[in-house]
Amino acid sequence: MHEPPANSFASGVVPAQLLKQLPKVDLHLHIAGTLRPATLAELARRHGLPLPRPVDRLYAYRDFYDFIDVLRLSARAVRTAADFERMAYEAIEDAAAAGTRHVEMSFNPQYYMPTQVPYRVQIDGLAAGVQAARSDFGCSALLIASLDRGLPMDSAEHAMADIISQPHDLVVGIGVDGPEREGPPAKLAPLFERAGRAGLRRTAHVCEDNQTPQEAPPSNVRDCLLMLGCDRLDHGYNLLADDDGVHRARDGGVYFCVCGITSVKRNQTRRLQGIRAMREAGLRLTLNTDDPAMFHTDQTHTLGTVLEGCGWSWKEACEFSLAGVDASWLDADAKRALRQRFEHEIAALTDAPGTSTPAIQ
Ligand SMILES: [Zn+2]
Repeated sequence: MHEPPANSFASGVVPAQLLKQLPKVDLHLHIAGTLRPATLAELARRHGLPLPRPVDRLYAYRDFYDFIDVLRLSARAVRTAADFERMAYEAIEDAAAAGTRHVEMSFNPQYYMPTQVPYRVQIDGLAAGVQAARSDFGCSALLIASLDRGLPMDSAEHAMADIISQPHDLVVGIGVDGPEREGPPAKLAPLFERAGRAGLRRTAHVCEDNQTPQEAPPSNVRDCLLMLGCDRLDHGYNLLADDDGVHRARDGGVYFCVCGITSVKRNQTRRLQGIRAMREAGLRLTLNTDDPAMFHTDQTHTLGTVLEGCGWSWKEACEFSLAGVDASWLDADAKRALRQRFEHEIAALTDAPGTSTPAIQ
């Protein structure tokens, strides 16, 4: 006869400490949103930029537009290679502290055009931060150059020219973010086609639930896959309104890099319901932080919030852990090695005394 487990959380709350120990990947985070408030305040002061309020309330937003203003401040405050290095280093330090072992961070070259920071300065600084943090914290990182739909197309074209003419080993892909109502995916197709020819991987923010299904329609998922050549997507919740679209994405095996915390607090419950419904529909999901410092979260907190909100437990936590590896843009050897390491660590955590859990598939 089996003894009942002393501390089973097979279908209950997983302790935060165990979620922290679970090895994790973060594929959807914006480097501008990782800036610690104290770092942003220091850089703003150094570059003569006023803060909208004291540093301890810098990331307490009145509304969505106030959040955008703070994001814009962060873009103006990061100017030198040393600033970019520090931003990347601290982002990875904070990710590693939450048990994240690999990140793929988006940065928006267009954000730094008004202050005339050359693209080369941006990527040299970011790369220095990535390399130092990998050695100090054992967390690897790749970079995604992201375009903002909300900015003029000529600046997107300028950014793409820089991305293609100044390749870097760490910049493995491109993305697009910003409000979808600013234009359909087709608008960016020529730029994405050039990126594809240059060997860059492609992702896109699509069907985000902070926008209506009219502003961010399910058909955008199909267009991102077919017209932009994306091999994974960020968000995707509004796709649930289109059964055929869900079936196509499921059958195509596309990964959606969803985020458990949203800047719009009143949308938080809907966000969790969307994530749950996407998984129940058979879509492949990875779980990510989006703007961790600015949203007051990290991967452990995000995972705990999603498990609790969706009624999930250790099994789903481990699924997210391995899906992050599988959907990453690491090369095949690095991906295989990371997966083996994750499987080994998950097995050890699963077998640990007092952590009786179902077998992990
Ligand atoms: Zn995002």
